[in-house]
Amino acid sequence: MSTAESAAGSAAEGTALLEIDALSVAYGRRGGRPGQQILEEVSLRARAGEILGVIGETGSGKTTLARAVVGLAPVTGGRITVDGAEITGLRGRALREFRRTGRIQYLFQDPLRSLDPDLTVGALVAEPLAVTGTGSREQRAERAAEALHRVGLDPGLAERLPGQLSGGQRQRVSLARAVVTRPRLLLADEPVSALDASNRNHVLRLFDRLRTELDVAVVVISHDLSSLAGIADRIAVLYRGRLVEQGPTAEVLTHPLHPYTALLTASAPSVRREHRIPPGRLRRQEAAPEWALEGAGGCGFAARCVFADDACRAAPAVEARPGAREVACHHADTWRGRLSSPELAVVAVGR
Ligand code: SF4
Repeated sequence: MSTAESAAGSAAEGTALLEIDALSVAYGRRGGRPGQQILEEVSLRARAGEILGVIGETGSGKTTLARAVVGLAPVTGGRITVDGAEITGLRGRALREFRRTGRIQYLFQDPLRSLDPDLTVGALVAEPLAVTGTGSREQRAERAAEALHRVGLDPGLAERLPGQLSGGQRQRVSLARAVVTRPRLLLADEPVSALDASNRNHVLRLFDRLRTELDVAVVVISHDLSSLAGIADRIAVLYRGRLVEQGPTAEVLTHPLHPYTALLTASAPSVRREHRIPPGRLRRQEAAPEWALEGAGGCGFAARCVFADDACRAAPAVEARPGAREVACHHADTWRGRLSSPELAVVAVGR
């Protein structure tokens, strides 16, 4: 049993620290105008000691999801609860007060842009404690040194400036800043996309260690399935602002229920060859049905889906499946069987 699988067992029984119910987000909504819908009725859970991987391509809404949790995106519907406190739509003073508790920490994609270049590493890591009014200056310095050690950095780096560190060290400083307040929820948006392969693995292993050491819920957002495969207990797949599938990582990777997930796994090196469906079998090679191209409702994936038919003109709801899985596809239980259909083979490989 892998570390992720054994942690998944205990996390499955843990307390839900992040609960998102039917979350919708739209930008630019004014008066009666609908605005641009970015997320539509997305529901997710992340438990103590669990890593939830959220995957999706550009425009899937994955970053907006994290921004909504920290009060940086316009929520138009649904509910967000963190560590038992409902935070949906908190504004102004109420939002600032909740942030000051340090219960949520957000790790940005680019550490260089998120770290003040004029502050030393020690000051940067101690800063969240100062914001939350925790301890004396000496106590904060001590906690900062402890956090640096926790993320595998020499506390002797405390006097350096961010510009004097490598990319991997900077991302670990960001992580030390994130864990120094002992948060209940850690949101990491593309935390390793700017790193080289060796630093990427190091930072990913740190997430794996920290979630058990701190009993924190970790949500890692990525466009790269391979980054998530080794550490996430569960994976949630977003497509154009909707949740299309979620479930335990191993099952999602080896037996995807949604055609889009199957497409993602088709070229992921982390998925064993025998589980991959040749991508050509999953890609639409002929023109999509007109109704799908018009974007007038129906399944959002229909224009790219080789299995689309008239049933898909109605948007599929997210449905539960055995094994703690969820999927939004009218043909989730049958599309695999259709892969061998000669008629479909013609569609998939082109005439
Ligand atoms: S509902 Fe239809 S179009 Fe959408 S993914 Fe399923 S088969 Fe494809």
